[in-house]
Amino acid sequence: MIPVEEALERILSRVGVLGDEQVPVARSLHRVLAEPAVSSLDLPPWPNSSMDGYALRGADTAAASPATPARLVIAGRVAAGHVAERPLRPGEAFRIFTGGPLPEGADSVIPQEDAALGRPQVRVMRRPRVGILSTGDEIVDLGGRLGPGQIPNSNTYSLMAQVSEAGGVPISLGVAADRLEDIEARLRWGLGCDLLISSAGVSVGEHDFVKAALERLGAEQHLWLVDMRPGKPIAFATIPSAGKSALPAFALPGNPVSAMVTFELFVRPALLRLGGHSRLGRPMIQARARAPIANPGRRRGYLRVTLSTDGAGAYTARLTGDQSSGILRSMVAADGLAVVSGDTTIQTGEPVPVILLRDPR
Ligand code: AMP
Ligand code: MG
Repeated sequence: MIPVEEALERILSRVGVLGDEQVPVARSLHRVLAEPAVSSLDLPPWPNSSMDGYALRGADTAAASPATPARLVIAGRVAAGHVAERPLRPGEAFRIFTGGPLPEGADSVIPQEDAALGRPQVRVMRRPRVGILSTGDEIVDLGGRLGPGQIPNSNTYSLMAQVSEAGGVPISLGVAADRLEDIEARLRWGLGCDLLISSAGVSVGEHDFVKAALERLGAEQHLWLVDMRPGKPIAFATIPSAGKSALPAFALPGNPVSAMVTFELFVRPALLRLGGHSRLGRPMIQARARAPIANPGRRRGYLRVTLSTDGAGAYTARLTGDQSSGILRSMVAADGLAVVSGDTTIQTGEPVPVILLRDPR
């Protein structure tokens, strides 16, 4: 038997190199050069600027420092493909753009911007720390055994995810029973946070104690009940705190979709503001309904839709299915929230504004 190396040797010793041919440069990828490629011209043919900035005489700024800046007159302009109208004189600078020929008399370019700074550290706005409390006698945290009448906690986890997505640091305050003392104690644990969110227990039921607990913490309530579906029972309060700014606290509704949608509309912009952002809202687009989108009832609807694009690249929207506020799937599948006034049906083909949660394009 022949060893592998020798077999290869036997093959290659019998295979020669093909001849060469002329091909356009654009077809030469992965081909082997058959002759040396030598340039017949200097490139660039004249000194040019490799960045946007100011052309000048280095000697004019040699003595400059932040304390004793040099002052030059901007006396000309050279864009790529053009030449300076006259030579640069001492004490002058010409505006110059990448690829522009350096004017006669100039020997330096001060770049308008640095592409990189090489700094190992930057100073940035703090990430908001967000305490998240779920409430309800029926709520069992994940991993716990469900007894009769109990349901697993989903709000803590969907809200933690939403907080992270918005740049915050989520901190779970656990699940409080429908008891004023328990809710108050757990909210107290979160007083060192930058923002508090609770879910459920904020309606008008006999077991709804969140607002009372916030009051016990000295909170000033700024709103309760918003004209929207899903949502409506949402409270916003601030808890004054000695020596620092008041702590914003959101009491969101308990239904999983209501909690997520109210987070999107109200908590997310607040979190972005805390984090120093100036653009706080999601983009809003116009889509055409692929099937009727009905918003029964008088409240303004934030209906969960999937988006796609038609032949012309325009957005089209379709409901994610059952819009009941307990159906988490309607939110999980959503690309956006169609905003529809009360008692209105958007007919197939009609436009509807949509808050873009994620872009399917
Ligand atoms: P409530 O706002 O207390 O009336 O609650 C409204 C609905 O949301 C009820 O069906 C609750 O069981 C449900 N719910 C409340 N909190 C949670 C939670 N953390 N996870 C899942 N569902 C919840
Ligand atoms: Mg409840």
